[in-house]
Amino acid sequence: MERLSSPHDMQQWANDQRRSGRTVAFVPTMGFFHPGHLQLMEYGRSRADRLVVSLFVNPLQFGPGEDFERYPRDEERDLALARGAGADVLFSPSPEDLYPVHFQTHVTVEKVSRGLCGASRPGHFRGVATVVLKLFHLVQPHWAIFGLKDYQQYVVIRRMVEDLNLDLEVVGRPTVREPDGLAMSSRNVYLSPEERRSALALSASLKAARERCRSGERRAAVLLEDVVRRISGEARARLDYARIVDPETLDDTDLIRDKAVLILAAWVGKTRLIDNGFLEGNPDCPA
Ligand code: AMP
Repeated sequence: MERLSSPHDMQQWANDQRRSGRTVAFVPTMGFFHPGHLQLMEYGRSRADRLVVSLFVNPLQFGPGEDFERYPRDEERDLALARGAGADVLFSPSPEDLYPVHFQTHVTVEKVSRGLCGASRPGHFRGVATVVLKLFHLVQPHWAIFGLKDYQQYVVIRRMVEDLNLDLEVVGRPTVREPDGLAMSSRNVYLSPEERRSALALSASLKAARERCRSGERRAAVLLEDVVRRISGEARARLDYARIVDPETLDDTDLIRDKAVLILAAWVGKTRLIDNGFLEGNPDCPA
């Protein structure tokens, strides 16, 4: 596995692959790998001739007072895990590499960035879209693999790729969970044992809503009421939002018909966690 940090070297490498007719899969990450990340890498590995993993904690997607400084980092461990997952390149630029002093160009994906996490984290998806577009230009992948755990991010990136006619396919992969249901996240290390227990209310409420929906309750308001009750019932948890939305437009759904995703965010202690699940429709082909 090669380790690259200069954008120029990364682009050179990608140009060489394209010239040689090799296909490239790309997994963008902020590091501190867990099985959710590794699953994306394994999928990319199986799909293309070459696999690139990027590791970049992107300052542009963190708001003031968020956890950019203390975001968990362990580059040596990540290096070993990416190598084990069969990556050909680990690309880890510095913030100065990607955002030199005169940097001033940003990408705004408008409507789908606005609500949900976009409302609670102003500027977050502008930071995500900007860095992901830059990374796409450097890595020039045929496939870019994203986790459906960050569902709104997945929709934002798909929209950007379509709107800007980027020549690549965005692939979404299912959320990898702990055995008790908690969605794996680099931020789970922030949780105390008590908070870890309270955090289970997120996945448990999703599961209960899915079961109730499948047994015939199609009214979004009724299902959401139960989610709010379950999460508010946890002493250490505070719900940010819970919505049932169309998987492509992210518009609210009142009555669940053929496609709907329940998407939520909650604070557990000082940690903000997100989760989501399809109530109806095929998560492998959401749009
Ligand atoms: P992050 O390092 O948190 O920015 O995540 C990098 C990629 O891994 C994103 O596409 C995430 O959606 C994905 N990811 C993170 N956690 C999980 C998980 N538990 N299951 C599947 N994918 C995940």
